[in-house]
Amino acid sequence: MAFSFVSILLGSSLILQASASPLATSSRCCNLLDTEFKGAQKVVYPQTSEFGVLNTYFAPTSQQTPSCIFTPSNATDISRAIKLFTRRSCKFAVRSGGHHYNAGWASINDGILLSLSNLNDVIYDPISSPDSVFVGSGNRWRKVYETVEPHGFTVVGGQNADVGVGGFLVNGGISYVADQYGWAVDNVREFEIVVADGSILRANKKDNKDLFRALKGGSSNFGVVTGFTLDTIKSSVITTTFVGYPETSYDAFINAAYEYCWKGEDPKSQILFISFLNFKNGTFSLQTAASIIYADALQISSPPKVWAPFVNGSIPFLGTQVKAQGGTLGSHGRELAGVQRSGGVLPDRRFRSSQMLSF
Ligand SMILES: Cc1cc2nc3c(=O)[nH]c(=O)nc-3n(C[C@H](O)[C@H](O)[C@H](O)COP(=O)(O)OP(=O)(O)OC[C@H]3O[C@@H](n4cnc5c(N)ncnc54)[C@H](O)[C@@H]3O)c2cc1C
Repeated sequence: MAFSFVSILLGSSLILQASASPLATSSRCCNLLDTEFKGAQKVVYPQTSEFGVLNTYFAPTSQQTPSCIFTPSNATDISRAIKLFTRRSCKFAVRSGGHHYNAGWASINDGILLSLSNLNDVIYDPISSPDSVFVGSGNRWRKVYETVEPHGFTVVGGQNADVGVGGFLVNGGISYVADQYGWAVDNVREFEIVVADGSILRANKKDNKDLFRALKGGSSNFGVVTGFTLDTIKSSVITTTFVGYPETSYDAFINAAYEYCWKGEDPKSQILFISFLNFKNGTFSLQTAASIIYADALQISSPPKVWAPFVNGSIPFLGTQVKAQGGTLGSHGRELAGVQRSGGVLPDRRFRSSQMLSF
């Protein structure tokens, strides 16, 4: 029997319905999935410790309560599951690294959570093809950096090394080298994807060209992406610094930020402008900070022109001197992951990340 597929976008969770059969309850769907993968232990139920681990999100507010979690090992497992979901009208959500902030995007109540965490291959051959790497969509950027960077290459990936590869890429992805290499998804050479009828497709510049184009920012609208072949880039030094400013610098800071954004003339420079309320001795003060990145080595005593007002003292900053730190995308990514995960202190110990409005 032929089924007609209706694909409905709800938030960004993909819900698939087959008009030929009534909506099955989510517990019935879990049972059907268990039967389909009998003995393989790929369906995880609440009240198990594994369920708790798989259902943990960066932002606790995005956590929901699925009826069960499906943990496929490869694209074929996903294809079989998608065929079942569409045949039985089972509701499901797709989760990679769980770093999306909104409930209902990579999480679901009363449905199946499709967790991609076992799709964690990173395949790189620095001898025969140093210019590309295959990355399973359940990876975090950390593993990709750690695989590629020892060979002098890196990838256009997450600023925070713990962000998931899958969600970051299907939603665009802004890296520290965005002004030089574009969105992270611009550096995807090929997608491997399971679409609504269960077919496993490859989308690149030659095959499934329209799908390839649509996936550049297509989120979960077109299927479950199971792997990405990424272009690698030469790894170079990335310099970072973090500068905080007192309330009295507020106007000068905002004006300089405006000038920087308006003129934006140095593609190696990236600044995150941060504004937050600091609560001390019963009063609030409005403080600002700049997290500054340069995609090259530099001496802080002779900063690039676009940085100058933020580090040379013309906007008075907190403390007595600005210090910069060199590293790679991977090393900075690991450091930022530590800071953001703990909600702890930024390199400058006056600022707690939990107080910040920028992320
Ligand atoms: C601490 C922190 C730092 C961040 N830093 C950056 C940054 O530097 N640059 C930036 O651009 N963004 C950043 N983000 C935002 C982040 O990139 C997005 O939230 C991204 O979607 C997270 O990817 P994930 O795999 O962890 O997402 P998940 O929460 O697992 O998924 C996010 C969305 O993508 C869908 N999805 C995930 N994987 C797939 C797949 N394989 N196929 C189809 N759909 C899929 C999900 O269904 C969901 O709708 C940050 C977020 C946090 C919390």
